[in-house]
Amino acid sequence: MSALIEAENVTRTYGVSRGAFRTPATVHAVAGASFSLEKGKTLAIVGESGCGKSTLARLITMIEPPSGGSLRIDGKEIATAGRSVLRDLRRTVQIVFQNPYGSLNPRQKIGTILEEPLVINTRLKAAERRARALDMLRRVGLRPEHYGRYPHMFSGGQRQRIAVARALMLQPKILVLDEPVSALDVSIQAQILNLLADLQDELGLTYVFISHDLSVVRFVADDVLVMYLGRPAEIAPVEAIFEAPQHPYTRALLSATPVADPDARREQIKLEGELPSPFNPPSGCPFHPRCPHARKVCVDVRPDLVDILIDERYRTPTRVTCHGIVEGWIEGAGRPVDALGHVSA
Ligand code: SF4
Repeated sequence: MSALIEAENVTRTYGVSRGAFRTPATVHAVAGASFSLEKGKTLAIVGESGCGKSTLARLITMIEPPSGGSLRIDGKEIATAGRSVLRDLRRTVQIVFQNPYGSLNPRQKIGTILEEPLVINTRLKAAERRARALDMLRRVGLRPEHYGRYPHMFSGGQRQRIAVARALMLQPKILVLDEPVSALDVSIQAQILNLLADLQDELGLTYVFISHDLSVVRFVADDVLVMYLGRPAEIAPVEAIFEAPQHPYTRALLSATPVADPDARREQIKLEGELPSPFNPPSGCPFHPRCPHARKVCVDVRPDLVDILIDERYRTPTRVTCHGIVEGWIEGAGRPVDALGHVSA
C-alpha cells in the first residue's frame, strides 16, 4: 500500500533576533522528522510542548513550507508543487484544533460555518451546500435544527463535533487532529474519540493525531512518533511503544502515564531538568542532559534513526535514535536491523 504522507528528514527553522542587541539566531523547530503514513491509518505524534509536534502539524497542513528534506503528500512533493497542485492538496488535508471555543466564529450560524469552505473552494449551489452541511451534522451526531443555531448554544463536546464536521466539508483524505480532546472533560473525550474512529471507518480517513497524552494515543493510533526537541526519538507500532518502548525518553513519558490496570507495575522514571531551549540545543543526542543512561558518545555524536527488531509480532521494526539501544547497553534493547533486513547477532 502506498503512503499518503511520506516525510524524509524534514526540517523547519525560523530566523529570530534575541536579547538586548537583537542578535540573529535560528530556531530548529523540526530538525529531521522521517515517517510515513498509509491510507486509513492513524499516526500519533507525541511529546512535551516545544518538541515540534505543532510545527509538524503546520507543515503537513501546508500552512507553512518545510525548510529542508522531503515531504510528499498524496504522492506530491510539497517543496516543488505548483500553485494549482498546492491548492488541490490543501483541500486534501484539513485540520481540527484543540480549542472548540476559539475555532468557531461566534457571530456565524452553524450552517454558515459549515458551508464557508464550500463557498470559497467549490461552485456548489446553495441547496447542494446546505444538503452537504445537513449530512455532515448527522454524521457527527448533531441534528438538522442545529444548522440555524450559534456556537454559544452548544457544549464543548458539541462544538468539537461541529469543528470536525467543518473540517470534513471538503471531503479531505487526511485530517490533522491537533490535541482534539485535551480541552474537553474526560467523560466527553471518549465520545469524541469514538466519533473520530467511526468517521475514519466510514470515510476511509487518514489521521495525524497530535497529543501530549499517551493514554489517549493508545486508543487511537496505529503508529506513534515520539518527538524530542524537534527530532524523532522513536517511531513504532502503538503496541510496541506501550509493550516494549526503546528510547529512554519514551520510557520516561510512559512511566508518567497512568495505567488502567492497578496491578500493572511500571518502573517510575523521573526526568531531571527542563526541556532545553531550541535556540541552543545540546550537542550529540539532544536528550543527553536528562538521560539516566547517557555516556560520553551521547554528548559527542548525534545518533541516527536506526531500525530495531524487538519481536516478529510487531508489524514493523521500531525506529529509534539512541546509541544505548543500538549498542545494547540499555536493558530491554532490541537488535538493530541493517538495510537488507538482516538482524545483527
Ligand atoms: Fe540516552 Fe545516549 Fe540514548 Fe541519548 S543516545 S537517549 S543520551 S543513551
